[in-house]
Amino acid sequence: MPLPERLALATRNPGKVREILEICADWPVAWHTALDPGAEGSWPEVEETGSSYLENALIKARAVARFLGEPALADDSGIEVDALGGAPGMRSARYAGEGASDRDNLDALVRAVAGIPRSGRTARYRCLAVAVLPDGTEVWAEGVCEGTLIGGPRGSGGFGYDPVFVPEGWDRTMAELSPEEKNRISHRGRAFRALRRALEARA
Ligand code: IMP
Repeated sequence: MPLPERLALATRNPGKVREILEICADWPVAWHTALDPGAEGSWPEVEETGSSYLENALIKARAVARFLGEPALADDSGIEVDALGGAPGMRSARYAGEGASDRDNLDALVRAVAGIPRSGRTARYRCLAVAVLPDGTEVWAEGVCEGTLIGGPRGSGGFGYDPVFVPEGWDRTMAELSPEEKNRISHRGRAFRALRRALEARA
């Protein structure tokens, strides 16, 4: 099946909106987002009450698809640090507490791994990308990006934990990569490219 002609992006995180629109720049789709002029404040606020990335992504996409009566995409993502038992994981956006900024969360993670040698600081970003269509169809795909954490932030690109995350096979942090380099290897790039294939493979 072809992609829907219009897609709503069910996220308010400006870093994610920017990246998803870049990753999906070649999709023949008219996009609209909660950050569009005029949309602000009118889209539903959703609480991420699910117990998995998939559930949370579905909660966000279903709410916007229902509200607009149009196909909606969402993602849920996080960083998983092996030495911290997979934390912050689903709590990545709130690691330093409710309402914490990206910088607060990054500082909290730097403190949490401070005593761990670099070889033990393996981590991965994970992203679940989902599409919910008005006929009830739900399609999803996962993307993972493996890497390690360095002891202090480097670089100004990307967002969130990117200044301390060095992807496998690179000697730069995610925040030192160009947007094209990040999107080529990122969890989000992988998830949304796989989501497109899954949408097009629908019977
Ligand atoms: P959520 O998907 O809105 O629940 O938030 C995911 C959180 O994971 C973000 O707020 C970031 O802290 C972190 N995160 C997810 N993807 C990335 C990324 O590509 N770079 C840096 N941090 C990320």
